[in-house]
Amino acid sequence: MSLAPYFARDYSEARSKFLVAAGNAGARIDHFQNPLRGPQGEKLFADAAWIGPPDATRVIVTISATHGGEGYCGSGCQVAWYAQGFAAKLPKGVAALAIHAINPNGFAWTRRVTEDNVDLNRNFLNHATPHPANPGYVALADAITPLEWTDASRAASLRAFDVYKAEHGDEALRRALMGGQYSHPGGIFFGGHAPTWSNRTLRAIFARYLAKVPHVAVIDYHTGLGPYGHGELICALPKNSPHLARMQSWLWGEMTSTEAGTSSSVKLLGINQQGMYEMLPNAALSPLALEFGTLSIPEVLDALRADNWLHVHGDLASPQAKEIKAQMRAAFYPDKDDWREMVWARALKVNEAMIAGLAAS
Ligand SMILES: [Zn+2]
Repeated sequence: MSLAPYFARDYSEARSKFLVAAGNAGARIDHFQNPLRGPQGEKLFADAAWIGPPDATRVIVTISATHGGEGYCGSGCQVAWYAQGFAAKLPKGVAALAIHAINPNGFAWTRRVTEDNVDLNRNFLNHATPHPANPGYVALADAITPLEWTDASRAASLRAFDVYKAEHGDEALRRALMGGQYSHPGGIFFGGHAPTWSNRTLRAIFARYLAKVPHVAVIDYHTGLGPYGHGELICALPKNSPHLARMQSWLWGEMTSTEAGTSSSVKLLGINQQGMYEMLPNAALSPLALEFGTLSIPEVLDALRADNWLHVHGDLASPQAKEIKAQMRAAFYPDKDDWREMVWARALKVNEAMIAGLAAS
């Protein structure tokens, strides 16, 4: 049977599918409205659905759309999990909290960032102290977001990246482009200067549901890195963290670590896993990013830079905007049956392993 019915064509359809599937499964659902509207004038919400005993000591949390447009994937997996009846199979004492579209604005506009151009997964750090510098980004900022988006400007930018790579190496280039930056609010991978709405909303949801829960496992769905359809299990904890060892034992030793340099992701600051430790300081917390590959890194980066250019310098009503939005969607959601099948098979296995690990802990 095709998995397509679980996956949506836009944010509003994704939300409807989620509310119906979670509601049919008997979940209690809370709604958190974003202050802005989507491209069709639609209202935007993050929704949190709880199923299981209110006093559960073990909770599996899933999150979709941390990076807005990546929500097509995460939402589809959350809907499939309900629709295929897995909520009814939760072990005794385990509850499931599904957070749908934590960045609904980015989802609705098919952007990676929030309404204030913030990369939510670079936003969970202490904004009261000076932000980390990214001198590579500063050096390349004009090439990353050129004033015009043409074949000539794109070629010139790629030449600037090549020059930087020849001088500093491939890893330094990747870190300059994707490691996060706090100096250019109109640029890509901007981490913000204060907790953004989605950050504050995640904190409110964690405080409401999880403050007293001793065992919490988190699957945060992402797309855009790694081989097509492959689901990497990314941990951002220190190499020697006991939490990482526990998760390795649950997940076939397949966790990769940004800190140890074994992940397809660069080392990151301010990601939501770090925020979760502040939110739940006393819990045995097992958080991972489940990252599904789509296109190659240069293709994904080109889409991100095009979208960034469009929102900073371009015209959202132009034909070029339509092309760029289609490019963004393809970069983060390959709308194909084989991709959905690979994604859901992996997501289901990871959900089951995390739930079994929680139940046995
Ligand atoms: Zn992501």
